[in-house]
Amino acid sequence: MTHVTISSIDHATPAAPTAGRLRPLDLREVSLRPGFWQRRQDTNRRASLEHIEYWLERTGWLGNFDAAAEGRLPEARRGREFSDTEIYKLLEAMAWEHGRTGDTAVEERYRAIVRRVAAAQEPDGYLNTNFGRPGQAPRYSDLEWGHEIYSFGHLIQAGVARARTAGPDELFQVAVRAADHVCEVFGPDGIASVCGHAEIEPALVELYRVTGERRYLEQARLFVERRGNQVLSDIEFGRSYFQDDVPARQAEVLRGHAVRATYLAAGTVDVAVETGDAELLDAVTRQWHATVARRTYLTGGMGSRHQDEAFGEDFVLPPDRAYSETCAAVGSVMLSWRLLLAHGDPEYADLIERTLFNVIATSPADDGRGFFYTNTLHQRVPGTEPEPDKLVPRAASSLRAPWFAVSCCPTNLARTYASLAAYLATVDDEGLQIHQYAAASINTTRFGCEIDTSYPDEGRITVRITETPETPWTLSLRIPHWATGATLDGRPVQPGWARLRRRFSPGDVVVLDLPLQPRITAPDPRIDAIRGCVAVERGPVVLCAESVDLPPGVDLNALRVLPHAEERDGAVVVTGLTAKPAGSGWPYGIAPEPTTGTVDVPLRPYHRWARRGPSTMRVWLPLADGRTDPQ
Ligand SMILES: [Zn+2]
Repeated sequence: MTHVTISSIDHATPAAPTAGRLRPLDLREVSLRPGFWQRRQDTNRRASLEHIEYWLERTGWLGNFDAAAEGRLPEARRGREFSDTEIYKLLEAMAWEHGRTGDTAVEERYRAIVRRVAAAQEPDGYLNTNFGRPGQAPRYSDLEWGHEIYSFGHLIQAGVARARTAGPDELFQVAVRAADHVCEVFGPDGIASVCGHAEIEPALVELYRVTGERRYLEQARLFVERRGNQVLSDIEFGRSYFQDDVPARQAEVLRGHAVRATYLAAGTVDVAVETGDAELLDAVTRQWHATVARRTYLTGGMGSRHQDEAFGEDFVLPPDRAYSETCAAVGSVMLSWRLLLAHGDPEYADLIERTLFNVIATSPADDGRGFFYTNTLHQRVPGTEPEPDKLVPRAASSLRAPWFAVSCCPTNLARTYASLAAYLATVDDEGLQIHQYAAASINTTRFGCEIDTSYPDEGRITVRITETPETPWTLSLRIPHWATGATLDGRPVQPGWARLRRRFSPGDVVVLDLPLQPRITAPDPRIDAIRGCVAVERGPVVLCAESVDLPPGVDLNALRVLPHAEERDGAVVVTGLTAKPAGSGWPYGIAPEPTTGTVDVPLRPYHRWARRGPSTMRVWLPLADGRTDPQ
C-alpha cells in the first residue's frame, strides 16, 4: 500500500488544481446565507440525504456491502451493476455537508455507512459488489458495461471529500487501497484499457492533489491517453458512446453519452493542468466551445438522445425530446468550473450559472424527496404523478419521482448542493473574483465580504467589504453575457469582467445592478426543431408557459405568441394567439388555421414547472407571423 501523508486539509473544495489562473476557495471560506441557493442547500441537508439513505437501504443497494462481507453474494445482490456508486456519492455529499456544517447527525450516519463499505473491501483493495466472487462474472470481464473502474472513481471522490474536510479517515484509506489496486491492474504493465464510463480520471487527479502521489496522476493520464484508440469493443451505439472513437487530444466536440463525455472532459482538464500539457487543455477548451455553440439546450442541459443518453448531432436539439439528464448538468458544471479555474474567462461561469438555475434547480422537488432524471423543454401531455413510495423506471418518469431503477441523479445533486458554495468565488494574486451571485459570506485569509442580494428575483447585488489588506487589490465581478445595461456603483459596465482596483476599507460597499427585464430569445435557425419559436428569459432564468396558468380550453400546443414580453404584477406575460387546429386526419398540406382570439400567457421560471400537479409545458413558443393577427 502507498504510504500516504497529508500535509493539511486546507483545500476543502471539490476540485483543487495546483496550477491555473484562479484558485478555488475552501468551503470554510465561503458560505451561503438565506436566499435562493441556501434554501435548496438546506433542503438537501434536511431531507434529501435522509431520503436517499432510506432508498439505498430499501432497495438493498447498501445491503449489498453487508452481503459481500458476509459471503452472501451473488444470490443476495440487488440493483444494477453500478449501484455501489450511489452509496459513494451519498458519502461524498455527507462529507461535504459535515465539513460545511459540522452536523453531528450527518457524521454519525456517514460513519455507519463507511463501516459497512469498508467491511466489503477485499485484501488486494478491490471493492465491487457485482463482480469477482464465485457465481459472479470475473473482475474486469466487461469493461464496456461493468462500471467497475467508474465505481472506484466515485469511491475515491468520496474519500477525497472526507480527507479535505475532516482529514484522512477509514473511507479515505479504503479509497487509497482501491486506487493502488487500479494502478496495479491498469498501470503501464497492466491491462491496457479503460472503463466504459469515465469518472476515475478526475478522481485519481484529485487523489494526487490530496496526497502528492504522482502515480495517481500518471494513471489518470494513461486512462485519458488510451481512450479514443478503440480499446473497448464496438457496441450498438458505436464507440463514440464511451468516447473511445477519437482520442481526447484530437476530438473537436463532446459526443456520445453526455455524462461520460463531461466527466471525461473534466478529468482531461485535470490531467492537462497538472502535467502542464497545453495542447491537451486547448483540445478540451475547443470541445467546450463547439459543444456550447451547437449541442447545448437553452437551459444549459446537454444530451438530446433518449436511446443512448447522448449528445445529438450539431443543432439536433428538439425540445420535446430533450434528454438533458440531471447528471449531465452536474458533469457540465464540473467541466466548466475546471476550465474557469484554468483560464479565468467569465464565459465558463456564465454556463455554470445557466445550468445551475435551469437544470440543477429544476430537478429536485420542493421537499427534496423527488427528482427529475431527464429535463424536457416541452411536455406535450400532462405527466403521471408517481406513487410516492414506488421506485420508477426512469423512462416513465414524467414528473419528479422519489427514486429510480437507475438513480444516479439524486445522489449527484446531493453532492453538488452540499458543495455548492465552492463555485461562488475564487482568488488570484490580484484579488477576489465573484462568479455567481447569491447571498453569501466570504472570508479568506486576505479578503472578507458579505454579499446581499435577492438574485435572481432582483438584480441588485451589494458587496460589503469586511476584511481587507491595506494595499490595493482588485475586486472582479462577473457581468453575465445577457446583462447589457448593467451598472457598478451607477457607472455602466459591459458583459465580461467588471474590475475595481483600489485600496478598500472595511465597510466599503460596492453595488452591482444587473438588468432583469424579460428578453425575447430567438434560436439559431439551424436548430430546426425550434425554428420560428422564441423563448423568454429573465436574467439567468429561462421562463416557460405551463397549462395550469391558461384559461380552460386553451391548448398550449396550439398557441402562438407575439414577440413581446412585459412584467405585470410580478409576472412576465406574453400575448398568445389561440387557434383551432384543423385536425383533418392527415397533418400535412393544411392551410394556416385562423386565429380565434388572444389570451394573456403568464410565464414562470422553468425551474418552477410541474410543482402544481401534472401539466403541459413549453419553453419554446411558436411565433405568430404577420398573417395571423387576431381577427
Ligand atoms: Zn443521472
